[in-house]
Amino acid sequence: MSDYIHIVDGVPASLPLGKVVCVGRNYAEHAKELNNPLPTEPVLFIKPSTALVALDGPVAIPTDWGACHFEAEMTILIDQPLTKCSEHQAADAIAGIGIALDLTLRDLQTELKQKSLPWEKAKAFDGACPISGFVTVPIATLQDQQIQLRQNGELKQNGNSSDMLTPVLPLLAYISQFFTLQPGDIVLTGTPAGVGPLTLGDELQLSLSNKINLSTTIIERP
Ligand code: ZN
Repeated sequence: MSDYIHIVDGVPASLPLGKVVCVGRNYAEHAKELNNPLPTEPVLFIKPSTALVALDGPVAIPTDWGACHFEAEMTILIDQPLTKCSEHQAADAIAGIGIALDLTLRDLQTELKQKSLPWEKAKAFDGACPISGFVTVPIATLQDQQIQLRQNGELKQNGNSSDMLTPVLPLLAYISQFFTLQPGDIVLTGTPAGVGPLTLGDELQLSLSNKINLSTTIIERP
């Protein structure tokens, strides 16, 4: 149902579509803005491959379940299996980095959290992960990437991966203790502060350092 395929440095990658493992509250300022306590360990959840859509056209959001928030996040494409891996093994399995929207049905998530239920429906719906292509970067620069999101020209999110509570390599090693990461899986590394609701017709601009620059329009999901 999705037109999404993995692209690395402008070329389609021969990697299957897989799951998307996400981390919540990986930036202190974002945890604070949602009145969440700072986690002592990474908070993990998963979006299925049906959440993936290419961030090269309009982004369609559901309008039936309350507010849908944007969360701009740096992403990692995996190209080697990782099970209970070391940080060194994790570094060898990174095929590229990109930027994605972790779309979140915030009202539904809040309701589910209040009932102590899993918030999967708020995060894992079809199209919940619009995502860019990937670019290869030196491993040494993973924690020096600028993540920006503009909504109708206004800078709403402006974070740097240096502020992650759990940096990429320890994060991948941690994730792989619970879930084997397979070639073609993607990891979303958490959102910096500044998240907010989307409105139909919004123009978004997303950028990752000087490497990725994308514009998109928010439309209603048919
Ligand atoms: Zn997120």
